[in-house]
Amino acid sequence: MIARDTGKDALQQGADYRTLREYNHLLVLNSVRLQGPAARVALAQLTGLSKTTVSSIIDQLLQDNLVTEGDFIDAPASGGRRPILVQFNEDIGLVLGIEIRYSTLTLITTNLAGQVKSVWNEPFDFTTPPQTCLAMLAAAIRIFMARADLQWDHILGIGVGLTVPIDTRTRTLLFPPGAYSWDGIDIAAFLSQQFQVPVYVDNNANMAALSEGRYGTGKPFSDFVYITIGKGIGGGLIRNHQIYHGAMGTAGEIGHLQLVGDGPLCICGKHGCLETLADNGAIIDDACAGRSLARVAPRAGVSSRLANADIEDLDINDIIHAAESGEMSARLALQQAGRYIGAAVAIMINLLNPEVVILEGATVRTGRYLLEAVQEESARHTLPAIWPATKIIAGQLGDLAVALGAATVVIDAAFAITPATALAEYPQQVNNPTA
Ligand SMILES: [Zn+2]
Repeated sequence: MIARDTGKDALQQGADYRTLREYNHLLVLNSVRLQGPAARVALAQLTGLSKTTVSSIIDQLLQDNLVTEGDFIDAPASGGRRPILVQFNEDIGLVLGIEIRYSTLTLITTNLAGQVKSVWNEPFDFTTPPQTCLAMLAAAIRIFMARADLQWDHILGIGVGLTVPIDTRTRTLLFPPGAYSWDGIDIAAFLSQQFQVPVYVDNNANMAALSEGRYGTGKPFSDFVYITIGKGIGGGLIRNHQIYHGAMGTAGEIGHLQLVGDGPLCICGKHGCLETLADNGAIIDDACAGRSLARVAPRAGVSSRLANADIEDLDINDIIHAAESGEMSARLALQQAGRYIGAAVAIMINLLNPEVVILEGATVRTGRYLLEAVQEESARHTLPAIWPATKIIAGQLGDLAVALGAATVVIDAAFAITPATALAEYPQQVNNPTA
């Protein structure tokens, strides 16, 4: 005897069909978005769906204005006729990407292909109490939206990259060095309550690693280590084109690899972490004091230009230029930092076997001494079997990498097929720290 369908089962079946329908729509849309423009036939091959199913989905996507279809000028001609191709309508929405540093704020908008549409930088003070700081952040976002003449109904969401670790389990800041009153604060909840859009927050190095992988030198690679050298040293891991967070979200924190047991005190409370030995501040300090120079040539002196300079007035570009114009203390300081970073890079390569290690920062972008030293030192410590297949290269995206990565996280979530990363990231209960 065959049981009759109960109403409940029919409803369940309806839900399953809807899920399948949504899944197929996203599958086709993502194929157009990431691999298009493409012909309907090609999309059927890419997705494994029938031509009829793909055609009916494309018709719906055309109606929703999510794709356009036509004879695109830049498409390769075949048999004398240009094919009719389906193309993602990347300008149907915008995304807000934000980078919060200790003293500056960068806001950008991108379209849904990650193309930057507007940029704004302004001074910021992340060391002020969270109540003041969050109010300043919300005000800056409102001013940016007004200046760029943007409406909230065009904004898919906000991504935020911060110079501190984020606990991915709770989305809160994890004991931010130098800003301890922020511990446990949920910036995403605050912003989504203010602006009624989904908000995603992550560490700045993770965000920069993601954008370098999508749009920069990391594009050909699925697994890489990303290291950013500036005020501190940050790291992000990309595994299968996505950020690898680890259990709590702090995976890749290469700056806190302890390289010298009795080294300088780090902001994390330990001694001799990589960033105390090789970040921009450490390099400036070494060059002006002539420490590396004294080891190599004890009687040689630092040029009066560096020795007499007020260290607060120097930035890393002064040291890079001094090194390039022959100042030995500057050159040796950059090389010494490069050796420390190289030793840490070798540990990462031996542990993770990435295809490539991408370095970012002024010392890599405009100078050669640090990168050369990183390559030499990591070659010395890396397993000989994997060294020839591992590349160490410079990043490409520079100052916008973090904000662009933050925007990319929003785009990825908006088109994610798996429920875990789907758009519905609205917090049900918002803990408003300014209330
Ligand atoms: Zn540390």
